[in-house]
Amino acid sequence: MRRREELDKAAGIAPRRFQYMNQVHGNDVAVLESATAAPTADAMVSRRLPMAVMVADCIPLVLVGDSGGAGPVLGVVHAGRPGLASGVIPAAVDQLRAAGARNIRAWLGPSICGRCYEVPAELREEVAAVAPSAWSATTWGTPALDLPAGAVSQLESEGVLVEHRGPCTLETETLYSYRRDRNSGRFAGLVWTHE
Ligand SMILES: [Zn+2]
Repeated sequence: MRRREELDKAAGIAPRRFQYMNQVHGNDVAVLESATAAPTADAMVSRRLPMAVMVADCIPLVLVGDSGGAGPVLGVVHAGRPGLASGVIPAAVDQLRAAGARNIRAWLGPSICGRCYEVPAELREEVAAVAPSAWSATTWGTPALDLPAGAVSQLESEGVLVEHRGPCTLETETLYSYRRDRNSGRFAGLVWTHE
């Protein structure tokens, strides 16, 4: 909690606070008007709330859309393997659009890459059946999933412009990686407006 307060200060949003969610690897999208107890969801959409998604290998995805004079519409998505397979990304994009967003842009934060994320062959089949571009192999030749590639193709097919892709968490020592460290911490993907 103390770290979260420090983060609010560091981002210069205090006395506002980042809104967190209770992430469960599902595809529910919480549409929020005002700050609330953490909703159980893997995506949030709001016009004004500063929002955070916590990750350590899953993709922290930030979405921003314009809505003319009404200001931007913001979104955060926790996009791990189950979320990618169950459509949390298009679900979040739909909710941004429902809130009036146009010209939606996406930033993919650091996540485990398609050369590092080893999975059993059956799992690769299962996910690639819904997100074909996620099919991958590790640098050592075993079945893998490329979550960022899957996410980018889902975003592009929704007409969202992908402006940034972060580095691989497992290969970047300075980033938390659950796969590398198991008892790792998590880091946050953040989005906010200046009031
Ligand atoms: Zn990697």
